Amino acid sequence: IMSYTQFLADETATIQFGRQCAALFRAPAIVYLNGDLGAGKTTFTRGLLRGMGHTGTVKSPTYAIVESYTLPEITINHFDLYRFSTAEEWEDAGLDDLTPNSLCLIEWAQQGSDYVPAPDYIIEFTHQDNGRQCIIHAQTPNAQKELAQWQT
Ligand code: ADP
Ligand code: MG
Repeated sequence: IMSYTQFLADETATIQFGRQCAALFRAPAIVYLNGDLGAGKTTFTRGLLRGMGHTGTVKSPTYAIVESYTLPEITINHFDLYRFSTAEEWEDAGLDDLTPNSLCLIEWAQQGSDYVPAPDYIIEFTHQDNGRQCIIHAQTPNAQKELAQWQT
């Protein structure tokens, strides 16, 4: 399938959905997290990391640009490019070195323009009523297959 849509009524639902998505993604994969400030991208990542077995804190990478989590089975890199002033910062910071063997979750990927690797998945968060609508878009044939298996 090409996409999967889920309404998230509150923060707890976003965390829970992130946890469920831990069974969907495996490394290496590039996942863009799209949506306005406050749409739930970092909250979702918090749930995903919990689902993958991370027990410590999950900081927003807004200032650090990337926060990395090395778990027994997988390395997760959580990027936030919001503060990029030019797309070249992706290259200048050597961020390409982090992508090959990890699961990469990228907030504000458009700020890195073509420097950022193409996504396997795009997850779109939008405000809806007092909650959020979340749509997972599978961007490759393999991702479409994985998404179909996961949602059954
Ligand atoms: P982003 O990373 O997209 O800027 P954050 O995850 O940091 O957004 O913040 C989202 C804010 O919205 C937090 O205050 C969180 O508690 C809240 N939130 C997260 N998911 C939901 C939801 N499904 N419904 C309502 N509020 C939510
Ligand atoms: Mg964020």
